[in-house]
Amino acid sequence: MEYQTVLNQIQQEFSKVQPSGKVASYIPELAKVPPSKFGMHMYDIDGNNYHFGDSFERFSIQSISKVFTLSLAMKMVGDDLWNRVGVEPSGDPFNSLSQLENDSGIPRNPYINAGALVVADVLVSYFTNPKAALLAFLHEITGDTSIGFNETVAASEKAEGYRNFALVNYLKSFGNIENNVEDVLDFYFHQCSISMSCRELAQAFIIYANHGTLLNSEREFLTGRQVKRMNALMQTCGFYDEAGEFSFEVGLPGKSGVGGGIVAVNPNHYAVAVWSPPLNPKGNSALGMAALERLTTLTGYSIF
Ligand code: GLN
Repeated sequence: MEYQTVLNQIQQEFSKVQPSGKVASYIPELAKVPPSKFGMHMYDIDGNNYHFGDSFERFSIQSISKVFTLSLAMKMVGDDLWNRVGVEPSGDPFNSLSQLENDSGIPRNPYINAGALVVADVLVSYFTNPKAALLAFLHEITGDTSIGFNETVAASEKAEGYRNFALVNYLKSFGNIENNVEDVLDFYFHQCSISMSCRELAQAFIIYANHGTLLNSEREFLTGRQVKRMNALMQTCGFYDEAGEFSFEVGLPGKSGVGGGIVAVNPNHYAVAVWSPPLNPKGNSALGMAALERLTTLTGYSIF
């Protein structure tokens, strides 16, 4: 089946479904987003794109940003990064503090918040202006310089971010945070506040489907080895304690965010982003997961 036919069918199948789940409210600003938003956008590696619904509307990418910060940290500091953060699935919620004590302050992986805070610290140490460096990376891979932070969302998360404050302080007590905790949290809350549409996310993620290079470009943003590792980590850790379920239902590497976005990659084929704000109890978009399950079922191929 043609990709656009598949997307049309998914839109039709879900158009009458009331999404189950609840829009994230622990970041007050996110609770204001209408739950009925729904869009999907796919880029294939021949540069064609397919879409439906609210796929051009920007939303808060939240933890999807962890893929971009990890890519940048891998590129800049190389394998030394793995002395400070592990690569094992945690089986715990994204904001969990458990396991840090047993593992001496080395987070299980870069996608739980503890791991992403260590990656944020690495970038705060490496760059004089880490926020500008992150945006420059995103502007390069999307070709769109209007992508930026949403200061209201960043401030909203900071005002209520008790758990992330606890995590970063706890990590610092083990010596696994080099910088001032306020600086690390300021960077982290800003990376999570970035607004992007499904179209922009699918375009940005094409590098993970295309051996680290942009389409029609010789420029290598990540090496083949780095892309292999990025996709492996998305597959095993991208959905926290639902990583098994996402592999089981969808069968693609991917990453979710509490803004209701999910991006998934079918290496050598396409990158796809879906957005529906209501979240299941594990903090992943309920309708987004269901839509991606239909995508790999209807097209007849996942990575498995
Ligand atoms: N900014 C959010 C937090 O730290 C990101 C969580 C997520 O998207 N899973 O809680």
